[in-house]
Amino acid sequence: MSPRNQRIVDLNILENNMRTIRAFVRDQTKIMAVVKADGYGHGAVKTAAAALRGGAEMLAVASVSEGKQLREADISAPILVLGAVTEEDAEEGVRQGLIQSVCSSEMVKWCEKAALTLQKQTEVHLKIDTGMGRIGVRNAEERDAVLKELHQSQNVRLSGAYTHFADADGDEKGILYTRKQYEIFLCLTEPIKDGILRHCCNSAAIHRFPEMALDMVRAGISLYGYPPVRTGLPLYPCMTWAAKISYIKELPAGTFISYGRTYCSEKTVRVATVTCGYGDGYHRAAGSRGFVLIHGQRARILGRVCMDQFMIDITGIDDTAVGDEVTLIGQSGEDRITAEDLASWAGTISYEILLSAANRVERIYR
Ligand SMILES: *Cc1c(COP(=O)(O)O)cnc(C)c1O
Repeated sequence: MSPRNQRIVDLNILENNMRTIRAFVRDQTKIMAVVKADGYGHGAVKTAAAALRGGAEMLAVASVSEGKQLREADISAPILVLGAVTEEDAEEGVRQGLIQSVCSSEMVKWCEKAALTLQKQTEVHLKIDTGMGRIGVRNAEERDAVLKELHQSQNVRLSGAYTHFADADGDEKGILYTRKQYEIFLCLTEPIKDGILRHCCNSAAIHRFPEMALDMVRAGISLYGYPPVRTGLPLYPCMTWAAKISYIKELPAGTFISYGRTYCSEKTVRVATVTCGYGDGYHRAAGSRGFVLIHGQRARILGRVCMDQFMIDITGIDDTAVGDEVTLIGQSGEDRITAEDLASWAGTISYEILLSAANRVERIYR
């Protein structure tokens, strides 16, 4: 049975992106490949393996269950769980040999209890909130409460401290804000910096603030080929999304197309139906605004995107036939549509586009 639409991941490109980042960041700085959310939709296990081949030293995931998935695939590299430890998951985290993130004395206690139960040593990184307002200790007092608990723990070792930037890809104010976050981070980690990994840079900061790299950087979106700020580095998207034409017809002027009759033809149009819809994760908001590629030419979306299908204008695009490939994201001939393009039509960011594929969309590797 032929798939209605597919996401195709090129792991060689991903590995090369990691090599490029590795070559850019100075040797003393480790690189952590962020493979949370199923490797930003590229497949966590395959992405992690490719990133490690490309020179990443560590991995990051969002939760213990994401870390467990990597361990079960025999990935032995150090893995940091970016989400705060939970009482329920602490033990599985220790069992899987994951590095968990702590930001309260209670969290340290959960890790210590789990380590005692399992008779196993465990590592944690201290999360510091310097201006993101998400998780982390916010000042010296909160930091010291965690450190005190760590000091009393026999089986929990502090091996890192990190913070997350809120606006590293922002305008001038974002740059100032990031510098301020960095200063706060340096200040709060000064007394504990010996023997631990300090890290704060996400993709935007890796490119924009190389001087903030410290002991490790955390590369997410850039690894997948979508650096969020301008960079001279050759980083390329590694995911394409392709569907097919299922039907072609010519319609006279004055014909409505799709739900709500938001589009009405002004002259004769040649219309193709595409085998993808919002049920596959194609953003409905891209309806009437977005484009796809056929034989290297742009075709506009006509009217609203339906659950399983949408219509496009192929007037003037030669030699189109039922079964032809439709590029939703990727290169076709000389033209290319990126996840950023689709994001701009749908009013979102590339991250969300990469992650949007529904379960029924098959993912294959090249
Ligand atoms: C997701 C995440 C990253 C990666 O961010 P990118 O912008 O994709 O590079 C880094 N650090 C933390 C804490 C994150 O949650």
